Amino acid sequence: EALDKLIDLKGSIRVFCRVRPLISTSNFKIKSPVTVEQEKITVRAVGVKKDFSVDRVFDQESTQDDVFHEVKPIIRSALDGHNVCILAFGQTGTGKTYTMEGTNDNLGVVPRAIQELFSHASQDSSSTYSFSISMLEVYMGSLRDLLAPRQLLFRSTECNTTCNLSILATKSGAVEVEGLTDVAMPDIKKANQWYCRGRRSRSTSWTNVNDVSSRSHCLTRITIRRSGGVTEEVSKLWLVDLGGSERLLKTGASGLTMDEGKAINLSLSALGDVIAALRRKRSHVPYRNSKLTQILSDSLGGGSKVLMVVHISPSKDDVGETICSLGFAKRAR
Ligand code: ADP
Ligand code: MG
Repeated sequence: EALDKLIDLKGSIRVFCRVRPLISTSNFKIKSPVTVEQEKITVRAVGVKKDFSVDRVFDQESTQDDVFHEVKPIIRSALDGHNVCILAFGQTGTGKTYTMEGTNDNLGVVPRAIQELFSHASQDSSSTYSFSISMLEVYMGSLRDLLAPRQLLFRSTECNTTCNLSILATKSGAVEVEGLTDVAMPDIKKANQWYCRGRRSRSTSWTNVNDVSSRSHCLTRITIRRSGGVTEEVSKLWLVDLGGSERLLKTGASGLTMDEGKAINLSLSALGDVIAALRRKRSHVPYRNSKLTQILSDSLGGGSKVLMVVHISPSKDDVGETICSLGFAKRAR
C-alpha cells in the first residue's frame, strides 16, 4: 500500500535498477566500478564519477523474491483494472531474462505474476476473473506470434516475412495486434504450459540467425477480465524482455548485422522518447516511431502503470554500457 501511494505521488512510471552478480572471470579481484547506496548508484571509471538515482535498487545479492516483492503491487494494479507494462531493459547478459523468466529453481517475474493472479482470483469472492495469454516477438520490425498453432509457426520460421501481423487501434482507443493468438488460461497449470510453449518457440524461431533473443523483444500479454455483477473490466498486463541495449554498432557484437543493430537501437530509443514524453506530460507522445511503442501504446500512457527495470553489469569491462543504460533510466524519471 505504501508503494501504491508512492506510485500515485510520483506518477505512474517507476524505474528500478538491478545489478547482476559478478560472474567470476579472471577479473574477479578487481573492484567493481558500480556501488550502490540506498536508491543511488555510483559508477566510477577513469576520470569519471557519475551518480544516478532510481526508485529502487536491487544489488548483486538481491533475490527473485526481493524483486517480486516490489513488483507485486503493480501486478495488483492490473487486477484492479489498470493496464500495466513491466519492461526489462539492459545490455545483453545483465539478467533481463533472469528477472523476467528466471530459472526452474529461481522463478522470475512472469511465472510469479501468473501465480499471483490465480491466488488473488481465488481469494477475491466479490469478483470473478478470467485470464488469457498472448506472446509475441518483435524482431527487425516484424511481429511473430509465439503461440500460433504449430503449423503456422513452422511456416513462419521458414519465411520471416509471413509473420508480419499488423497493429490496429480499436474505436475504444485500445490497441490490438491483428490475428495474434490469445489463449485462455483456465488454471495455473495450463497457464504455465502456454508460457513455456511461447518461450520454446522464441528460442527456436527464425532460421539462419543465432541468438535472436538478444536482438529481439519478447512480449507476453496477459489479459485480465474481471466481472463483478453487471460490469466487466478488461485490463492488460504486459511483461516485456527487451532486446539488448548495447550500442551494437560500436561493439560489433557477435555476428550482428548493421540492420539488426539499427532496429534494436531505433525501437529502444523510440521507447525512451515515449517514456520521456509521458513523464514530462507532453501533449504529443511519439508512439508511432516503432512497432514496439505502437503495440504498447495503450498500456504506457493514461492510467497505466509502467515499471522499467534497468539491468546493469558490475564488471569494469562494461562500465561504458552501464553508464549508457543508467542514462536511459535517468531520461525515464
Ligand atoms: P540477458 O537476458 O540480459 O541477456 P540473462 O538473463 O540471460 O541476461 O543472464 C545472463 C546469465 O547470468 C544467465 O546465465 C543468468 O542465469 C545469469 N544471471 C543473470 N542475473 C542473475 C542474478 N541476479 N542472479 C544469478 N544469476 C544471474
Ligand atoms: Mg535475455
